[in-house]
Amino acid sequence: MIEQTGTIEQPGALEPSRTGILPSYLRDEWWTPDTGDDATPVLDASTGEVVTYLSTQGVDLAGAIAHARTVGQTSLGGLTFHQRALLLKQFGLALTARKEELYELSKRAGATVRDSLNDIDGGIGVLFTYSSKGRRELPNAQVYLDGPVESLSKDGSFLGRHVYTRLPGVAVQINAFNFPMWGALEKFAPAFLAGVPTIVKPASPTAYVAEAWVRILVETGLLPAGSLQLVSGAVPGLFEQLGLGDLVGFTGSASTAERLRAQAAPGLRFTSETDSINASVLGPDAVPGTPEFDAYVKQLMVELTTKAGQKCTAIRRAIVPSDAVAPLVEALRQKIAERVVVGDPHAESVTMGPLVSLAQRDEVLRAVGALEAAGGRIVLGTTDAPDVTQADGTTGPAGEGAFIGPILVGFDGEAASLPDAVHDVEAFGPVASVLAYRTVEEAADLVGRGGGSLVTSVATSDPGVAATLLARTAAYNGRLLFLDRDDARTSTGHGAPVPHLVHGGPGRAGGGEELGGIRAVLHHMQRTAVQGSPAMLTALTGVWHQGAASRSDRHPFRKSLAELAIGDQLASPSRAVTLDDIETFANFTGDRFYAHMDEEAAAANPFFPGRVAHGYLLVSWAAGLFVDPDPGPVLANYGLENLRFMTPVSPDDEIRVVLTAKQITPRETDDYGEVRWDAVILNQRDEIVATYDVLTLVAKTTESAAAAAGPVSAEAGA
Ligand code: NAP
Repeated sequence: MIEQTGTIEQPGALEPSRTGILPSYLRDEWWTPDTGDDATPVLDASTGEVVTYLSTQGVDLAGAIAHARTVGQTSLGGLTFHQRALLLKQFGLALTARKEELYELSKRAGATVRDSLNDIDGGIGVLFTYSSKGRRELPNAQVYLDGPVESLSKDGSFLGRHVYTRLPGVAVQINAFNFPMWGALEKFAPAFLAGVPTIVKPASPTAYVAEAWVRILVETGLLPAGSLQLVSGAVPGLFEQLGLGDLVGFTGSASTAERLRAQAAPGLRFTSETDSINASVLGPDAVPGTPEFDAYVKQLMVELTTKAGQKCTAIRRAIVPSDAVAPLVEALRQKIAERVVVGDPHAESVTMGPLVSLAQRDEVLRAVGALEAAGGRIVLGTTDAPDVTQADGTTGPAGEGAFIGPILVGFDGEAASLPDAVHDVEAFGPVASVLAYRTVEEAADLVGRGGGSLVTSVATSDPGVAATLLARTAAYNGRLLFLDRDDARTSTGHGAPVPHLVHGGPGRAGGGEELGGIRAVLHHMQRTAVQGSPAMLTALTGVWHQGAASRSDRHPFRKSLAELAIGDQLASPSRAVTLDDIETFANFTGDRFYAHMDEEAAAANPFFPGRVAHGYLLVSWAAGLFVDPDPGPVLANYGLENLRFMTPVSPDDEIRVVLTAKQITPRETDDYGEVRWDAVILNQRDEIVATYDVLTLVAKTTESAAAAAGPVSAEAGA
């Protein structure tokens, strides 16, 4: 019997109601339908018991989308990249604090604790990574500049550059059932950081896990209004509401992706991550007894059994030298016998859980049947329901649980004549095919026949094999992992996308790209070429451009961030360059390169008129010319960027430096921020000698500078 309710109060625990409908989180409130006569049950993967019901009858999707586009856009638009990044960290901490509860809940979906390390810890890890990358790699602003300034006129009065601004709509994230947390958070984190509100649509079989993490975030009280909504169930008419300025990030099967893509209005960004017949190649050098062979076997076992093989990145095709097929099957059999215990994840000894549902199990068995019909033979495992470990630790029949053991399907015959099914049929469970090859080129061709994959791994310690496979297979893969004795222990694994690197793949894998660090944030933004005068580009970007107005009142090193403005400038006096100085510097540093020390040899060099000053000497002199020595707001120099020496400097030349505050990035959590200075060294003919950016840390206020310099001042005063 289903309870029918309107907007409801949430209980504290994460366990969903077994009799009620799983709530959605819409327009900053929890919502369930008033009628739920179409409600469908979601079942426990191990026992078949009802976990909860799903229905979105009467859901106001148009209202949710409008809320995201108005309230969500406004609240996120009021924050900078750094402020959003700090919130991601808070969300990560809140989820970490309730990780154990999430593990418990995920067991109902068939996930062992090891599986949850991928889904739950992996999802939290994405939040932390984007929090940290957002603060390190994005400005504390709302606009992101891409690439250098392009000078479009001779006199420098017309410039161009590429600017990213956030999409004005909503990011609808449609997720697959297998990673209800990681899969959702790896989309949510970059969207949030970009400043685009999210609507999450989880897959039905694991929607209650998604509801749990959303609930934890809501309970932090830190979610900006409208920044996150959740639809627990079907989304009828969704695509009719979406258009230019919105984004759909889809993960799921290729067939669903195709159907949904066809509904996308012109201008709607639609990216998809779909199923993929991933390959793993055992190199010809990785013969039994080598560390690479052992690493390959272990990896194959892990990929077959983690999430019971329900991973888009799992190995579906093991491509191995012909004479290694039999030893591989044997070694894998032993490894599985030693390590794999199939059963209800509530039992501690269980290392591999059930598939998410009986329907999914039947789907996998159908796919195995298709592989057999195409000529495959089961060389390891069986399609019979296994006896399994029950929640209480006893062994018994699978009953209503969606259990299958690991299965390896072998194919005989030449690589070129293998049936299409082996490269095409995705058995989304603990199933892989083993294919034999004779040459590395043949192995590469087999990889490519997958039609585009998320990942291929290669176990080899031979750089020649690796180079051939890179050249011939990279275009068919989103990621390549080379496994050898040096990285076998530290490798994150074939099946584990990491937030720093792109996840996605060409062709059949969906043609989309997610993660990859800041790239994923930019997918939620529009890149626009902006042209204008230096003053206009400075005003629009918050970054000073050469040619824009400058101000030279007090020494800029005497100004805290509260007083400093971009365009604050220091033009130094000139300094004479002598041969004596050059020799002193050469002897002091040991840099006695002939261009500084030997007139004849230097003159013979095509770049120098004769002996010249060291570039590092010029940069050091420049510091001497622009630095204001006393303690003050400038706390430290932490580097130089983009240093280029343009004109050689000879004895008897003169140099001077012009230093201009170019970009100011206050840190949210510290009493200081970063200031990037534009530095130009010129000679007595006003030719540019060198250009670079000086990076400094500067106190936010005079008081914080005094506090930071406290011990030093005390010493100086003593
Ligand atoms: P699926 O059946 O294609 O469903 C994916 C998502 O689409 C679910 O949230 C589903 O919701 C939703 N959906 C279905 N019809 C829809 C519609 N008309 N409008 C809006 N949403 C709709 O895939 P799945 O069974 O959940 O996941 C397994 C597949 O995903 C496998 O093929 C696997 O390879 C692939 N996958 C790929 C990746 C990757 O990163 N490339 C990652 C994980 C999984 P309902 O559940 O409510 O129908």
